[in-house]
Amino acid sequence: MAIMTRDFNSVDLSDPKAAALAVKRKALELGADAVGIGNIERWANSPLQMDPRQIMPECKSIIGMVFRVERGSLRGVEEGTYFSNYSAMGYGGITYLYMPMTVINLSKFIEDQGYEAIPMGHQSDWRAISNNGALKKNFSRPVRPGQAHPDIMVHLRIAAYLCGLGEIGFSKMFLSPQFGPRCRVGIILTDVELEPDPIYDGPQLCNRCMACVKACPGQCFDPEKTVKVDLAGHEVEWADIDIDKCGIAFTGTKYTGVVQDDPYLQGNPNDTVPAEWSPFRHKPVSLYKTGQAVCGARGCTRACMISLENRGVLQNKFKDKFRRRPVWSVDWSTPDEAVTDIKFAEEKKNEAD
Ligand code: SF4
Ligand code: SF4
Repeated sequence: MAIMTRDFNSVDLSDPKAAALAVKRKALELGADAVGIGNIERWANSPLQMDPRQIMPECKSIIGMVFRVERGSLRGVEEGTYFSNYSAMGYGGITYLYMPMTVINLSKFIEDQGYEAIPMGHQSDWRAISNNGALKKNFSRPVRPGQAHPDIMVHLRIAAYLCGLGEIGFSKMFLSPQFGPRCRVGIILTDVELEPDPIYDGPQLCNRCMACVKACPGQCFDPEKTVKVDLAGHEVEWADIDIDKCGIAFTGTKYTGVVQDDPYLQGNPNDTVPAEWSPFRHKPVSLYKTGQAVCGARGCTRACMISLENRGVLQNKFKDKFRRRPVWSVDWSTPDEAVTDIKFAEEKKNEAD
């Protein structure tokens, strides 16, 4: 019995139209929920540090894929009883587990046919620029004159837009016509020439309803301050979200400016308390590395999704509406009244104590 291996050069990708169809079918088969293609010329005006051609100078096409966050993953946060599912299954698990498997397997399919493919998801920890786009000091240096500082950061939401997969909403969230803001995005850079899809021109998704702005617990959006960019000849505008504020509110943290005996964030800083949108006395551990979305994306995802579903513009329709009970809030200034009849597990004393 001989060893077995994959079938090389069994699919002809030389015709851009047929190749695009083959790649899209494979992407759906491998677990993407939507797939679109952008030709590399659409990235012509990218800033150097965000230019995919800096990674793959011969790149001809970018394949964008949408991975849905299940609406059910948001249910436990919405009801206030089960928070970890969104952070694990709807966030970190998609980003660091499910999406890489799909983009890696699709890249293998392309490389089996003799073309190069770079599977990409959220690999931004090594990027040379910070959230405001400025180069990080003393971080890295170009390896050749004129080249970018490693690592390049390809903007995934912009990539999804340039692949024709949907809009960028006022919240700066990527909105797909299937799932609205319940999306994560993965991409593949490849030197195969694939027929591109048109930039999204379907039913309007973001109607500037401002539900995201009103419901964001961290008040991270300033509706008066927006950013306008030219994406392949299309003017796109979104709110200038305060990422630092989001990073704090997202984890259910509130700063008080007063030293706390038992702060919400363990260690420094020591002036934090749980916000009214966190039921946890201390910030829970991150799941799958960055999954610590205690706010459950209350504004930028849940409020937006409710708004889009109410307008009937999303393709993934449900039998029942998402919000079924009033929005909850935790009053941390009062004692926990539910404790009277509940037995708590005694923390086992460390033998060394
Ligand atoms: S909540 Fe409204 S304004 Fe905000 S992104 Fe969604 S549709 Fe646009
Ligand atoms: S993740 Fe939470 S805090 Fe951040 S913008 Fe969305 S709703 Fe606001």
